[in-house]
Amino acid sequence: MCTKCGCAIPARDEHLPVAASDATTQAIDVVRDLLALNDRVAAHNRAHFDDHAVLAINMMSSPGAGKTALLEATIVALRDRYRIGVIEGDLETDNDAARIRAHGVPAVQITTGTACHLDASLVHAALHELPLADLDLLFIENVGNLVCPASFDLGQHRNVTLLATTEGDDKPAKYPVIFRASDLVLLSKIDLLDVMDDFDPERAATCLRHLGRDIPMIQVAARRVPALDAWLAWLDHELAARRPAYRKLSRRLVAVNAR
Ligand code: MG
Repeated sequence: MCTKCGCAIPARDEHLPVAASDATTQAIDVVRDLLALNDRVAAHNRAHFDDHAVLAINMMSSPGAGKTALLEATIVALRDRYRIGVIEGDLETDNDAARIRAHGVPAVQITTGTACHLDASLVHAALHELPLADLDLLFIENVGNLVCPASFDLGQHRNVTLLATTEGDDKPAKYPVIFRASDLVLLSKIDLLDVMDDFDPERAATCLRHLGRDIPMIQVAARRVPALDAWLAWLDHELAARRPAYRKLSRRLVAVNAR
């Protein structure tokens, strides 16, 4: 974490030097305490997910990149195979949770008011409104923002970030923190590529490679000409990879309860 202002920028992306006043130092201490508290609650959330063998995925992007539309299409494609739940984060309205519920899937809307990201405590409160024991997969749709959501662990197992063809293809270079923290990048609205002629997927891939991590990028579309196969295969793989750990955990819990 950056030690100057408390944001989560790694050391090599250091800010320009600034003179630290007492007020600055106090502000840094407060931010550190908040992030430490958030990390503790996030670990608690993760324990909830693991206890119930739920794979939790944090979906991040700028506003309008197509997170909710992708979740709707994903639910339609997978609802006969997996039990899915959704937590929606927006500043106001429960429009997105209502869209998800219309597909017969439990969804809890968090409205953050003025906050530009979800945090672990908000997610924890939402968890208690969801039937976790009856879920395989939980999507947490974060507030649309390419900066703040990257700094707050929610207890998720995987971070997925969308980059839409209606945005700039250099977004990974401009917002390195969130893309570097991603386990997967989804190039969304790929069906609009024929009209978004200033977006170059190869340039986006190059920007992503320059972040120094080998982050996979998958092309998806949820509406005009759906393209979901690679994304659904990635979800299948993640769920299958977690199953043995969950079986081991449940055997251990049975053994503990039998004592
Ligand atoms: Mg949304």
